[in-house]
Amino acid sequence: MSETHERFAPETIIKRDEIDRYCDGGRDFIRDDEIRAELAANAKPDAARVRDILQKSLAIQTLSGPEVAALLAVDDPELLAEMAQAAWDVKHKVYDNRIVTFAPMYISSYCMNRCRYCGFSLDNHKEKRRCLSMDEIRREAEAMIRIGHKRVMAVYGEHPMTGARFIADSLAAIYSAEVPGRVPGSRNQVRRINVNAAPLCIDDLKIVHEAGIGTFQVFQETYDHKVYSEMHPADTVKGDFGWRVTCFHRAFDAGIDDVGLGVLFGLQPDWKYEVAAMCTHARELERFVGIGPHTFSVPRMHAASGSEVANAKSSFTDDDFFKAVMVLRLAVPYTGLIVTARETKELRDRCLRIGCTQMDAGTRIDIGGYSAGSREQKIDEQQFMLGDSRSLEQMIVDLARQGVITSFCTAGYRCGRTGGCIMDALKTGKEGTFCKINAVLTFREWLDDFASPESIAVCTPLIERELAAIAEQYPVFYPQVKKRYDRICAGERDLYF
Ligand code: SAM
Ligand code: SF4
Repeated sequence: MSETHERFAPETIIKRDEIDRYCDGGRDFIRDDEIRAELAANAKPDAARVRDILQKSLAIQTLSGPEVAALLAVDDPELLAEMAQAAWDVKHKVYDNRIVTFAPMYISSYCMNRCRYCGFSLDNHKEKRRCLSMDEIRREAEAMIRIGHKRVMAVYGEHPMTGARFIADSLAAIYSAEVPGRVPGSRNQVRRINVNAAPLCIDDLKIVHEAGIGTFQVFQETYDHKVYSEMHPADTVKGDFGWRVTCFHRAFDAGIDDVGLGVLFGLQPDWKYEVAAMCTHARELERFVGIGPHTFSVPRMHAASGSEVANAKSSFTDDDFFKAVMVLRLAVPYTGLIVTARETKELRDRCLRIGCTQMDAGTRIDIGGYSAGSREQKIDEQQFMLGDSRSLEQMIVDLARQGVITSFCTAGYRCGRTGGCIMDALKTGKEGTFCKINAVLTFREWLDDFASPESIAVCTPLIERELAAIAEQYPVFYPQVKKRYDRICAGERDLYF
């Protein structure tokens, strides 16, 4: 594939007018100087102000820039403990006691960009590249379904070969995959596909929208314009900060109302700036269309093939990571928070207790890794190295031992509870009720379809406890829940509220 290593001109992809219309006087909405000034002006918040801010988070209201800056400045252990407690309470109020799980499917490692931290960079000649065919994508989906996955994050490098039509076709291939279930006559399928891909133009976003995308994720990597230009060469598409930072405005204009923001932590030392700027981005989306991000992701840079930047020691510590997650939980209380298998089990367990809402498990990030059944990580065949290699079943059992239920719920997306509708439900705590009930129903289904007798024995008391809590909290609704639960136990599938 010689054409895959030719450079392609950013002007052939980027539509300048689809950036400018979302900017003010040619300047995008991330004002580095203003964010830094807010961080400096709020560097010594007093305890009473911090407690007032926590009350605002607990009322599920988005925090302002100065409020986020004040929380980022807290270093008093007593106040930090109060913040952790508030983060936990916010998580419970909005999402109840569950972790939604998913797994990434890496579809292509061909990329025309030269991001200095990524193993897929065009400059990395050691990477063994691969792009799955539609048949291979279907087989990969079948392998994931056999493990028990229902939610897939499809991931692509940026390349003409994997443009919008290819992405749409690959979603269709994944949705078409089916595997017979344990219950005679039943079929297991992927029920939701989120996409992590490069920014697209409005017409291309419409194509992906029609193909049934769940969340559209694009990580800004860094909101610092200067660091951004150092990490992404100017003669690449990704070198255009404005094209990337306006991609969700285009997504909304194309009809996609479910978007996921992210920062690549560790890329630059000033992580507080990145948290503050990502919250600015969230508020800008609220201003633009009244709908904030569905998720924040907090990927952190890990070792990658051929990358000096990724393989250098970073000053960003686990404690910084923990605090970043905690402040994000409090800053935009309705937004889901994804902590991926890049991180270790220990750090992910800590993040559970301050408001993480989604974790991947049984993760393979080599192209075709699920169908190959490979377990070993190979640096030249994947984008970066993972920190948590637990299987899906191991993670589920570990979570259950901590009293946390794993949810495979995809109801919101399939019932039209997305965009503004889900925002309202999350803010008022209504979605938390659905979360709790659908977590129980989908967890029961998963245990019966995929778990070993030992895992079922560990997890069943947790389901019984959750059912009892539903009976107590929603006595009027409970009989309907119990009826569906019993139908699932009897072998019916895909029942939800
Ligand atoms: N190619 C698309 C793009 O960059 O927008 C999307 C897919 S890229 C494979 C997904 C994400 O992986 C990137 O947005 C970046 O945040 C993250 N990533 C890149 N290099 C990484 C590294 N060395 N360690 C951890 N995450 C990394
Ligand atoms: Fe390509 Fe994305 Fe990697 Fe950059 S981060 S080199 S765009 S795959």
